[in-house]
Amino acid sequence: MFCRTCRGPVGAGYARCYQCGLALSQAGGLLADAVAPVGFAVRGGPLAGDLIRYKSASAEGAPEAAARLRARLARFLRDDGGALWREAGMSTGPSAVAVVPSGQGRSGPHPLSGIVRSCLDLPVVALSLVPEVIHSRGVDVDWLRVTGSVAGADLLVVDDTWVSGGSAQSAAAALKLAGARRVAIVVLGRHINPADPLSARFLDALGGQKTGEKFLPGLSPRAARLRLGDEQQDR
Ligand SMILES: [Zn+2]
Repeated sequence: MFCRTCRGPVGAGYARCYQCGLALSQAGGLLADAVAPVGFAVRGGPLAGDLIRYKSASAEGAPEAAARLRARLARFLRDDGGALWREAGMSTGPSAVAVVPSGQGRSGPHPLSGIVRSCLDLPVVALSLVPEVIHSRGVDVDWLRVTGSVAGADLLVVDDTWVSGGSAQSAAAALKLAGARRVAIVVLGRHINPADPLSARFLDALGGQKTGEKFLPGLSPRAARLRLGDEQQDR
């Protein structure tokens, strides 16, 4: 029931969701070696709300939303980072981190960069939008430019919301084309739209488990702990 790549919902008999299958056919080995959502961002739920709110400095509750997201990311990296690095084929973990830029070409630093910098003591590799390249559907290797050397390095890519995965996987592909060895993606919220019948059944199945803790294929049970976004106080 979990997509082998993004852990989102899949139809019976499929290994991957439609978008991850498309990405694999587009970019193959340029994709990330492992993808880990920290939680499911169910449309209309608290995590999805935080992921919208934290980006707008003027929004009510933006600092609190950013603090909750920071705590989620820090806890995930502390508890589950080691398993993710192993799944991605890294021997010791990433030597640098990159944040997926906003597709809207915002001015000033991306608020996610501040969260990531406060959680991780790693050099930051800059990814910047290539002017006038409109991100095409799925994985687009021309969308981002890598600044600095990543040759032979293992990298962590952090993004806030995974809808199709196109942005984060485009970042992974750009880093691999620039010479990165292994890439792991951590995404704060894997978007789930309950209006989609497949997603609704997926949520029903998850909600049927009594603790709300989920076990994801491909990771150890501890590493795979994934909580629904509506469990806000999960410490
Ligand atoms: Zn998927």
